[in-house]
Amino acid sequence: MTDGPDLKPETLTAHGGRTPDALRGDVAPPLRPSTNYARDENYQQIGGQGGYARDESPSYPEVEALLARLEGGEGAMVFASGMAAATAVWLSLAPGDHVVLPKVIYWGLRDWLLKFADNWNLSVELFDQEDPGALARAVRPGKTRLVWIETPCNPTWDVIDIAAAAEAAHRAGALLAVDSTVATPVLTRPIEHGADLVFHSGTKYLNGHGDVMAGVLVTARRDDFWDRLRDKRHRAGGVLGAFEAWLLQRGLRTLYLRVGRASESALAIARHFEGHPKLAAVLYPGLDSHPGHGVAKRQMSGGFGGMLSLRLRGGAEAALSVAKGVRLFVRATSLGGVESLIEHRASIEGPDSPVPPDLLRLSIGIEDAGDLIADLEQALASG
Ligand SMILES: *Cc1c(COP(=O)(O)O)cnc(C)c1O
Repeated sequence: MTDGPDLKPETLTAHGGRTPDALRGDVAPPLRPSTNYARDENYQQIGGQGGYARDESPSYPEVEALLARLEGGEGAMVFASGMAAATAVWLSLAPGDHVVLPKVIYWGLRDWLLKFADNWNLSVELFDQEDPGALARAVRPGKTRLVWIETPCNPTWDVIDIAAAAEAAHRAGALLAVDSTVATPVLTRPIEHGADLVFHSGTKYLNGHGDVMAGVLVTARRDDFWDRLRDKRHRAGGVLGAFEAWLLQRGLRTLYLRVGRASESALAIARHFEGHPKLAAVLYPGLDSHPGHGVAKRQMSGGFGGMLSLRLRGGAEAALSVAKGVRLFVRATSLGGVESLIEHRASIEGPDSPVPPDLLRLSIGIEDAGDLIADLEQALASG
């Protein structure tokens, strides 16, 4: 039923990637918290599954198959968090490998990779994501093993051309991994543009309700590198709990509705506030004025995402005053939930942050767009 090859992703996600169990008929997936599974008298594993949940949890196959299908990949793996998934990738590199990534990406990931690289003896090169030729100049043939990009990238929403990045990476003999947390498979499928690996913090849009930490990797091919990643999850133990896998599967059922709504509202908000006298810039890839709009139109379909940033003419003080003045937006970190959030990233990232101090990051939820606009208007007026 829900495994028909022609079914649209909206249909597959609505069913949570499953058909009701033929024996018991559960419409919602059953929750299976057991960590170990018994053998029969002939010492065969009952039910044909793995014996131990760190090895092969029965909570994963449906949600992993769904994620692989949505991304157009050959396999997917869920992890305990986005960072656990990223760490599995770093652990699969060999000491001495060269890794290339943009200067502006999710800061926790950049920070951790740079520290990890010291211990693991990786050489990491950061490129300027605003310069379209910089990635190709940073890769070194035969030496670069991994190019890691994020698009649109947090929190300036610069857009990186995935197809061009894939070409540059592959020419050098490297793999391309794309952090697609912000775009989600609803808006961008990096494997269709040549990526080898897709990464998600499932904590964000995939779950969408701010109540699960999860990470996801999707592979274009089942190859040696994928086997190594699977081995890292199993041995390093960054496995997702049964309840979290269950909640992730549940959240995914409304992914298309949530991302569609958030994208529509974010575009309406960006258009409304562009040119506002108190704002120096509205950063959103859906605006014609955005430098990445042309590439975004090519590699994103159905919208430009629910994330945007505002830069205040009055600098950090004005930004903090708007954050103080909002009544509906929640002042909190993270993104991709059903309620709208506002965050002053420079305060969070500290003095080494490349994020301008006048910037406020907005994660648009599924509320009425007019209510969100009115809230920002009153906060800007009183600031
Ligand atoms: C949150 C986030 C991560 C890290 O994922 P966790 O689930 O917090 O471990 C990585 N990349 C992006 C773009 C994120 O937003």
